[in-house]
Amino acid sequence: MRLSNYFLPILKEAPREAEIVSHRLMLRAGMIRQQAAGIYSWLPLGYRVLRKIEQIVREEQERAGAVEVLMPTIQSADLWRESGRYDAYGAEMLRIQDRHEREMLYGPTNEEMITDIFRTYVRSYKDLPLNLYHIQWKFRDERRPRFGVMRGREFMMKDAYSFDTDKESARHAYNRMFVAYLRTYARLGLQAIPMRADTGPIGGDMSHEFIILASTGESQVFCHKDVLELKVPGEDTDFSSDLTPIVDEWTRAYAATDEMHDEAAFAEIPADKQVSARGIEVGHIFYFGTKYSEPMGAKVAQADGSEQAVHMGSYGIGVSRLVGGIIEACHDDNGIIWPEAVAPFQVGLINLKSGDAATDAACADLYEKLNKAGVDVLYDDTDGRAGAKFATMDLIGVPWQLIVGPRGLASGEVELKRRATGERETMTIEAALSRLT
Ligand code: ATP
Ligand code: MG
Ligand code: MG
Ligand code: MG
Repeated sequence: MRLSNYFLPILKEAPREAEIVSHRLMLRAGMIRQQAAGIYSWLPLGYRVLRKIEQIVREEQERAGAVEVLMPTIQSADLWRESGRYDAYGAEMLRIQDRHEREMLYGPTNEEMITDIFRTYVRSYKDLPLNLYHIQWKFRDERRPRFGVMRGREFMMKDAYSFDTDKESARHAYNRMFVAYLRTYARLGLQAIPMRADTGPIGGDMSHEFIILASTGESQVFCHKDVLELKVPGEDTDFSSDLTPIVDEWTRAYAATDEMHDEAAFAEIPADKQVSARGIEVGHIFYFGTKYSEPMGAKVAQADGSEQAVHMGSYGIGVSRLVGGIIEACHDDNGIIWPEAVAPFQVGLINLKSGDAATDAACADLYEKLNKAGVDVLYDDTDGRAGAKFATMDLIGVPWQLIVGPRGLASGEVELKRRATGERETMTIEAALSRLT
């Protein structure tokens, strides 16, 4: 992408309404534009990051055996009356009437709808286990939308739903998502800690929130320091095997959110191993048994011929919240420092003297070669000042800056800067190319 053809509305001033660093940086870097409280347009740079996150989430869901669908954002109130949640959900649900005065709503989540799909088609235990997911916008009329995309009203969620014949196999489904989540956040460059969370009336141990530690987080969380040292399961993890040992390893040490916090158990941890911090909820997995399948009649024939309501779980990831969450974890005074896997571009190519024939030609050549090699490049071909170009690339957090000017070119050299460390290295054009491809 040539910057001269792009749409990157950088703001010079830090917008006053933004209370936290990720919100400030997303506005300054021209990633989002607020359209109404908690409702955002995603501008090109922000949208690129959102899609990268979405794709990593998708790959890890598929690896764990989940199957993608796409359900609508608008749902019918009648479906929610079947589960009893239409009245129970409260003010967070945005209720709408169509021209025929039918009651509709903008979905805050999809348990009812997926249960409806399931009951329409699935009749036998032989078709289980099944896990269906989608990545779709949700709407919750939050009392206090704030912190930009971290607590929006319209936000992007990945939500998966598992269906099993009994609690034991539902536990396997749960474990698969648990491990998929560990892998997903690690690939996004984040350290997310699974923490025991409230299961509500269901009880038991099958509800975890995935939390990243950040001083601006809205949750108070507590854990044993050892959890921060655990190794994330590799790409070779066999999701058809029993994943209990991995889940046990990750749930052995103390880790709980505020609602589940047990002061006495926490006090037994050596003081230097106690972590009490603020955290951001970036995901939540949950087993809820037959809570929806029972009232909605989602039953399957068992091996013995009897009909039983299916056991379900749901598994959410805050895809759009993660954009802010990653920035909270990855930034410095100059701007964002994207982890490579989610960076909107891998390389920022900086032309120090646009209009100078030799520099333009060298940049055009580098741009073409990098593109051919499949590297996402943002080429600053504008006639701005060098200082402003550096500041922009630092602000938008591109992992590598390739700096090309007439002086270096005279001896066949360019400069490569690593955004994360600030290290700059002078090298030949060929060396730079082989480093970046
Ligand atoms: P919170 O406690 O932050 O309100 P929640 O517990 O209500 O979140 P869940 O119903 O568990 O949210 O939804 C799954 C995930 O969706 C959450 O873990 C979070 O990452 C994301 N999410 C929930 N609400 C929002 C929101 N208003 N804006 C952005 N992401 C959200
Ligand atoms: Mg909420
Ligand atoms: Mg929550
Ligand atoms: Mg939650």
